[in-house]
Order: sequence, then C-alpha cells, then structure tokens
Amino acid sequence: FSYNSTMAFIKINKENFFHNLSQFTKKTASKDSIGIVLKDNAYGHGLELMAKLSQEFGLTQAVVRTFNEAQSIKPYFKQILVLGDRAVVDDICSFTLNNLEQITKAQKGSTVELKVDTGMHRNGIAFEELEEALSLINKQGLILKGVMTHNRSADELSSELFWQQKCFDEVKKAVKSFGFKNIRFHSFNSATSLRLPCDNQTFIRLGIGAYGYSELPLVYESLELKPVLSLHANKISTRTLKKGQRVGYGGTFIAPKEMTISTYNLGYGDGWMRSSSLTPFVTAENLAFLGRVSMDYVSLESDKEEICIFDNALEAGKQLNTISYELVTQLHSDIKRILVEK
Ligand SMILES: *Cc1c(COP(=O)(O)O)cnc(C)c1O
Repeated sequence: FSYNSTMAFIKINKENFFHNLSQFTKKTASKDSIGIVLKDNAYGHGLELMAKLSQEFGLTQAVVRTFNEAQSIKPYFKQILVLGDRAVVDDICSFTLNNLEQITKAQKGSTVELKVDTGMHRNGIAFEELEEALSLINKQGLILKGVMTHNRSADELSSELFWQQKCFDEVKKAVKSFGFKNIRFHSFNSATSLRLPCDNQTFIRLGIGAYGYSELPLVYESLELKPVLSLHANKISTRTLKKGQRVGYGGTFIAPKEMTISTYNLGYGDGWMRSSSLTPFVTAENLAFLGRVSMDYVSLESDKEEICIFDNALEAGKQLNTISYELVTQLHSDIKRILVEK
C-alpha cells in the first residue's frame, strides 16, 4: 500500500469500527438506541466517511455540534441531535437547549432537547429552573423531544457517576410530574455505557468508545475495543549523517554515530504536537523522533518509504501527556482519510 502525497495520511479501519459498534450493540437494546457522536470531524476521523460507515453498520442516529455538520450527514441518518447551535425547524434535527436564553431564542416549532445540569456545572439549566424552562418551552411553541444531562466523572475511579444518575432520576420524575410524555431521557456517554448496563436506555451518546478507546482506569471491566484511526507519513528525502552532525531547528539532535535518516511529511501544521524534543515521541514502529518537529516535517532514523506514526491514540497520547480524544481530534481535516477494510 502506498499513497503519494505532500501530506501525511490517515487510515480508517472499517473492521475495527464495526467491531467496536458490535461490542456496544451487545449492551444496548438495539442499534437504534445508539447515537454515534460525530462532532469535531468525527473526533478527527472524518465526518462524512464515519457517517457513511455508521449507516452501513445500521445505525440510525447521530450527534454533532453544529447544524452545518448535521446538514452534511443528513442523508445517512433518521435523527440527528445538535449539541451547540440555535434551534430551528428541521425534519431530522433536534437541538440542545443549555439555558433559558436559548429557549427564548429557539425558532417556534423546532424540536428540542433540554440539558439539565446535574453536577458538571458546564452547561444545562439548574434543577431549580426546571419548571420555568419547561413552561417556557411550551410557551415558545417548541417540541420537547428529550431531556439530557452529562456526567463529569464517568471515566474516573469514583462513585460520582451514581450520585449524578440519582440527581438525573429526580429530574426525570419532575419532568413526568409536569405532564410531559414520550420524552427520551439520556445521560450515557462512552464511559457510562462501559460502566453501567445500557439495555434500559432508549438513547446513548457514543463517542470515543466507537473509535476504539476507553479512558477508564484498568480496574473497571471494559469491552474489547480496537483503534480505528492510524496516522502515516511518507518519506521526502534520505541522507547520511556523520557522527556529531545535528538535525532540525536548534540542532537539538546530535548524531551519536554515522546514521541514515529520512525526513517525513508530518509536522505541527498537520495538527501533530510539537511537544518537547527532550522526550522524543516514539512511533508505532518504535522509531524516536530526531530533534524538533517542524511545521511540515519530522526526521527519523529510517529509510522506509512509508511509516506509521501511531496506531493507538491512547498509548500515543500518554507519551504526549494528553488523552486519546485530543490527539485524534486535532488532526487537520484536510489530511486525506483512506478507508481500509481491515
Ligand atoms: C462529546 C459528548 C459525548 C460523547 O462523549 P464520549 O466520552 O466521547 O463518549 C456525549 N455527550 C455529550 C453532551 C458530548 O458533548
């Protein structure tokens, strides 16, 4: 396999994606209750490609940040939840309402899902505002489809998840007592879906787990998940260094011996982290970066035409002091995504 380009490239492994979705489908009542989270270019995997694959697997629901994202994947889904845009009338999309002001600004007749703050204190209305919010939703002529919350510590070794679930139970009771019927209640992200049974959930918002990662501490039982994305680079040129010659900006790498090195077409301009050349990143093939990462280039002791930078963002992220989410999400959208069956 070789792909000649001036840029690094990404391979998307369809078999692994389907494997992960199958794992979660075993826990949920059906494929229809999974909302695949495709925000931020599908966590860097490529919005349209992942939408298409999700449909091929049999998913019918997606979650995105913007209405724009929703527009470009409409052909693939029956229902799309938009997390962060103004509510407008749409036949497929429902829109998250995070505060009272957003309720007043929503377009009459739009389908909405009310976010309630159960402890994360980032978005959502307070429990005390629930009655006011619900009557405002009625008054504005909005169609309430769901009530949702988000867990702050589902992927940490703590019992906070259960405390938030209890708070959300109170929210459910209150919403029902105000006479609302056929509301879907949802609060499950990947970590929650890994930790708790899902067969009683009508809708889960599945992000990172579908892409093959769990940031849960290892003491928790997890599903077997497989990374979907791998990042690759092509060789630009090869040279032989004499002992003592230096590489890259600042010349921070000094050849300890005569060695053959090559320049590859990945840099911080592609969304890779420059990080520190003192603790060089080590690739999937066990090659250490030599010296500083440039905007478009990195140097390695290799003369291979194509190299794999990483094929597991959880492990690679640990090297770079970050989480799998950040590493994959920041990869630029104009890097070519190539679908491989296996
Ligand atoms: C991003 C997001 C999710 C998905 O979270 P994962 O940890 O990736 O599964 C779920 N719900 C909301 C509101 C989100 O913003």
